[in-house]
Amino acid sequence: MEYVVLDLEWNGSYSKALHRFVNEIIEFGAVKVDDEFNITDTFSVLIKPQIGKKISGKVRELTKITTEELYEKGIPFLDAVNKFTEFSRGCVLMTWSTSDIHALVENYSYFTGDCKLPFLKKYCNLQAYCENCLDKSKKSCQLGLSSCAELLEIDFSQDDQHRAFADAELSLRCLRKLCGKKSLDGFIVDAGENNFYEKLTYKARFITDINSDEIDRSQLKFKCDLCGRLAKRTGKWKQRNKSFSAEFYCKNCERTFIGRISFKKKFDEIEVRKKTVEKRAKPNESDNLKIEPCKNIKASVKE
Ligand SMILES: [Zn+2]
Repeated sequence: MEYVVLDLEWNGSYSKALHRFVNEIIEFGAVKVDDEFNITDTFSVLIKPQIGKKISGKVRELTKITTEELYEKGIPFLDAVNKFTEFSRGCVLMTWSTSDIHALVENYSYFTGDCKLPFLKKYCNLQAYCENCLDKSKKSCQLGLSSCAELLEIDFSQDDQHRAFADAELSLRCLRKLCGKKSLDGFIVDAGENNFYEKLTYKARFITDINSDEIDRSQLKFKCDLCGRLAKRTGKWKQRNKSFSAEFYCKNCERTFIGRISFKKKFDEIEVRKKTVEKRAKPNESDNLKIEPCKNIKASVKE
């Protein structure tokens, strides 16, 4: 089995045709590896902008790519897709998180009207794999590539990142460090499978109405975590950020605590997270439990 680790850089370009911004891809960088993850080939191309005319200051600052460079050395997006299809033939495609695949689908369908990527046959999300190996899958924020590399004590320079090739290579180095831990097989999906693209482009969201039919009411019960008995809810459900909390009372322990719950609607399941929190002395602080917002990875700039 051979693998191709791909990374992209993109620029937020305004499309007059669509009346909205598109994450226009400006660079492809990839490494091809054998089944022991030794590099056997590399791929790096710049893309000539066709949707936007200039790259933004932020992208320029981050990637050090200039507009002039793109016009000088860049090739049209569909030529890059053809080259990359040749390059990655027969390989499992890997990216760090699915945001690059989203951008590919967006760009490819912009130019062809088709959202099925010609080079995508088997796919593996390396971020999901690494999060799983490092036991970080259940965290509310996704694990960034640099954070993962730091956790794994990989020696790299921040200055070299935010270029497609360097990021693809760093993703590979993370994979190499972790590949002995768990089999990759369970993380490789067939792109020909039903719902692959639907699932990929589905945006998970938190349910923000406690009375929603999508909520399984039985989940709203809380047990006292000291004695394990069912506690009685003594306060109203309050919504804050992505979660709901309410006061509960355990008769057995004569104790009041806060039960907190969130429901995240994913493509084929609703992920429920529950937690009990000690009630604090000041009533106003009791449910002042902010969840830090995740970095938005689908922004026009890749952080
Ligand atoms: Zn109790």
